[in-house]
Amino acid sequence: MNVKVRKGDTFWYYAKLFNIPMKLIIDSNPQVNPSSLTIGETIQIPGYQTVTHTIQQGDTFWKLASEKRLSIDSLALLNPQVNPKQLQIGQRISIPVKVTYRVVDGNRPYDFDVLTQDVSTLYTIYPFLRKQVIGQSVMGKDLEELQIGRGAKVVHWNGSFHANEWITTAVIMQFLNDYLLSLTNKETIRGVETSSFYDQVTLSIVPMVDPDGVDLVLNGPPEGEFGDLALKINDGQTDFSNWKANIRGVDLNNQFPAKWEVDAARKPTEPSPRDFPGYEPLTEPETIAMAELAGARNFEKMLAFHTQGEVIYWGYEGLEPSRSMTIVNEFSRVSGYEPIRFVDSFSGYKDWFIQEFRQPGFTVELGEGTNPLPLEQFDEIYQETIGIFLASLYM
Ligand SMILES: [Zn+2]
Repeated sequence: MNVKVRKGDTFWYYAKLFNIPMKLIIDSNPQVNPSSLTIGETIQIPGYQTVTHTIQQGDTFWKLASEKRLSIDSLALLNPQVNPKQLQIGQRISIPVKVTYRVVDGNRPYDFDVLTQDVSTLYTIYPFLRKQVIGQSVMGKDLEELQIGRGAKVVHWNGSFHANEWITTAVIMQFLNDYLLSLTNKETIRGVETSSFYDQVTLSIVPMVDPDGVDLVLNGPPEGEFGDLALKINDGQTDFSNWKANIRGVDLNNQFPAKWEVDAARKPTEPSPRDFPGYEPLTEPETIAMAELAGARNFEKMLAFHTQGEVIYWGYEGLEPSRSMTIVNEFSRVSGYEPIRFVDSFSGYKDWFIQEFRQPGFTVELGEGTNPLPLEQFDEIYQETIGIFLASLYM
């Protein structure tokens, strides 16, 4: 929601008027000098939308404000052109509405278009959210990183490294929405106070690492060369529900140079719906973008969300730091998921991340069943794993 600065307005006053933490207003307006606002300049107020109200017989600012539990001055601020003493019947005014509801509904087929729409909506309501493009998929879709918070500790989450595990993107996005709601409404999540996370943590999220693959699983093959290629790799079958790879048949979570050769020797040697690690490591634009991101950001911890199994892999060749065990035990305590240190599998993002940076890295396998997990599991998965998201911020 936008307001125009009047004489005497300050960020401190807006924070009080709208009951929004001042730091969120400051971060929603990075181009504005908080200590000297210019009259007439536009300020974004996070956590609010506006609705239009048509003035009826008997309406006054006082009456509207009291009905809608707003301060009269918030109505005056939103409607600088309106004279409150001369309201005209039929006149339209803007009313601020605090957003207390989710705009992300994860419980639906969550493809790239849904993600793009949700990111755009969240970005409008919560302008302190930052986003940047870190690369493009094979088909040219933007790979976006979202960032939230101002802390020195950078915590990273990613989802949909595997195409038919797209439900992980939905879970991440819904949790992000709940985190944003808790910040603007000063509410806890599961009794955990989140305001300090904003100061201590910069949360980095790549919600969909393999957008081409997700769209292939959910919407079928696209027109043109990439659709034709995917059909060929899939033996002509139009059911792509077992497809884990990117659009050209490379398994993105077998692409990283951490004992890549060991895995490659026992995996498919040509493009395949799953498990083909590429002809060499880091050949795909999606994996290159993720490797470069880790190199650029100095993640304090990294969580890669997959399905399924209700387990958390947390080791790699004993190279993980000792605090990985403390953290995974907390993840397990809050979710009931089982920690597993070593597994006979290499060349994943978590493996490479631990090897390169010696920081805690985790592969979290959401839910139980056969991939792709049915949406009926969404709410249960969300409820059982919300604690892991929170713990990744406070541990
Ligand atoms: Zn996976």
